[in-house]
Amino acid sequence: MSATALTIAQAHDKLRKKELSSEELVRACIERIEAVDGKLNAVVHRNFEGALEQAKKVDSNGKFDHPLTGIPYLAKDVYCEEGVPTTGCSNVLRNPTSPDGLRGAGKDYIPPFDSTTTKRLKAVGAISMGKTNTDEFTMGASTETSCFGVTRCPWDLTCVAGGSSGGSAAAVSADECIFALGTDTGGSIREPAAFCGIAGIRTTYGRTSRYGVMSMASSLDTIGPLGKTIEDLAIILQAIAGKDLKDGTTSDVPVPDYRAELTGNVKGLKIGIPKEYFIPGMHPEIEASVRDAAKVFESLGAKIVDISLPHTKYGVATYYILCPCEVSSNMARYDGIRYGHTVQEKDNLVEYYGRVRSEGFGPEVKRRIMIGTYALSAGYFDAYYRKAQKIRTLIKEDFRAAYEKVDVIISPVTPTPAFKVGAHTDDPVSMYLEDAFLSGQVMAGIPALSVPCGFSKEGLPMGLQITGQQWKEEVILRAAHAYEQATEWQTKKPTLS
Ligand code: GLN
Repeated sequence: MSATALTIAQAHDKLRKKELSSEELVRACIERIEAVDGKLNAVVHRNFEGALEQAKKVDSNGKFDHPLTGIPYLAKDVYCEEGVPTTGCSNVLRNPTSPDGLRGAGKDYIPPFDSTTTKRLKAVGAISMGKTNTDEFTMGASTETSCFGVTRCPWDLTCVAGGSSGGSAAAVSADECIFALGTDTGGSIREPAAFCGIAGIRTTYGRTSRYGVMSMASSLDTIGPLGKTIEDLAIILQAIAGKDLKDGTTSDVPVPDYRAELTGNVKGLKIGIPKEYFIPGMHPEIEASVRDAAKVFESLGAKIVDISLPHTKYGVATYYILCPCEVSSNMARYDGIRYGHTVQEKDNLVEYYGRVRSEGFGPEVKRRIMIGTYALSAGYFDAYYRKAQKIRTLIKEDFRAAYEKVDVIISPVTPTPAFKVGAHTDDPVSMYLEDAFLSGQVMAGIPALSVPCGFSKEGLPMGLQITGQQWKEEVILRAAHAYEQATEWQTKKPTLS
């Protein structure tokens, strides 16, 4: 097996025994990226020299006490990292078209600081190799709205890798790195993980720090890992979770020992299956794979309970009011004055803003700014924003009531496996409907993960979603790990054709 295919746990073992050096591992990943990324377009900013330098330091130090020491990873292009270009895959931070002589002309934005997460990873010796492709400022479900172009699914290059953390998911799936970081505002870790046949977890809102990660919708954004196994997710989460004084929304609820929770024991665990997550038109094999997964859990001693989450059908509509409202505020910072794209417009400030933003932002960002501004305007605030907030509470209530009966909930991640590149390009609403099973958890601020649960007839991976209670990441990790041990979906590798 090539070194790039190792899990964190396997690579750590080899590093500790000195059967492999961190430099060798980083070089193997770089070679893999050079060999296959032309097909995938997953990596958008490369920090290979910096990574090699760090790997050499780690090797010469010779201590591999922490499971992440010397392990190379890639971060979604919204994680600020000191000295490494970070652009949100938006031309507004790339400034490629500005005439010479203007500040930053032709340059990508380079942050002067680290996000809390990349800082915590750095502190334990994990090695950042660069940035992965994403929908522009994470707005999308297919990584097609990126200014760098689409990322392709390693299992079928005519399909999308999912989004918005599509670059991170494709990179992990194709063994370009050992693990990756993503963000999940409305499903952007779980959906690409499912499309690419890997594992990914969205944490409870407040469990991981958003400091230094470019915001899309601040009350919904969460950051989390994508990896090859559930054990790897547990290792990464351990290193990044917990209170951060730089993010007032993080909590000091104690962080358990996630890896110790992976006991394989789900005896007596009560697992809910919500009837609203099986809808007409969904791919029959997706439904079958979730029903099969329920049987696996039953054979492991868990108890399956039919439940109802009655407000599920309002999830997408609510999300696509609240998210654009917050987008319209968060995008205001890209004004061409403090950073990013700038134009030669000396005389009129309003026109200056207008040009910077119309040249810098792509259509999906503009659409959301307009929808959000409209929904927040004095005449429509009650009709849209306030109403959406009320429905958000009802959705949250649904989960609270369900968790009186069950410990976790299983469901599909998406109604279909990876779709063709361009399938939804002309119809934004059909793209939004991809989030049908993903937005409820977001409204409730609760954790959910995706774990591989089979392949469609076309050979595309399918994902099982396991949703947990607030702060109870360890329970969904334990359930997913037990399922993973009882199946072998995660051992399959794509052919990149
Ligand atoms: N598909 C959703 C959207 O377009 C989710 C994006 C995300 O989670 N970043 O907003």
